Amino acid sequence: MKTLSELIVNYFPIIFLLVLFFVALPFLAEGFAFTSGILFFIFYPLYFLTIKPIVWAVKSLFETRCPKCKKFFQREFVRGEFVDEQEIVRDIPRTESGVLYSNHLLEPDQRIDMTRTVPVKFIQRWSEDHYRCKDSVCGHEWVKASSVEYEASPTE
Ligand SMILES: [Zn+2]
Repeated sequence: MKTLSELIVNYFPIIFLLVLFFVALPFLAEGFAFTSGILFFIFYPLYFLTIKPIVWAVKSLFETRCPKCKKFFQREFVRGEFVDEQEIVRDIPRTESGVLYSNHLLEPDQRIDMTRTVPVKFIQRWSEDHYRCKDSVCGHEWVKASSVEYEASPTE
């Protein structure tokens, strides 16, 4: 019995730390989630205010470039041309809300939200945008395809 008590005394700090660690683990995890939540709230607006506009600016700057002579700010819009239109059906989650009225005087009415996937018709419109280089020496013309998608109105 002497050896056991000796063992406990010798390893007491380690056992104590282990127990403390396992007790503290859920708190640590919660703290980590809390910290990452705070970090998200700090860094996401920062990203939204700094990196995103820079990426957008660089992208739109490169879009003004002529593909032939590679000069910037040379793009001139000539005309847009309608190419094709097609109907596509996508499954979109839709939420419907309602009230479940209670039959009892003391029971309050319940609000219910029901989300279900509904097939929704979309119209995809393809068009071609024609551009010309502003540089009179180059005068290159090019076409860029673009598409917009919008929900078909249910009355159609
Ligand atoms: Zn050019």
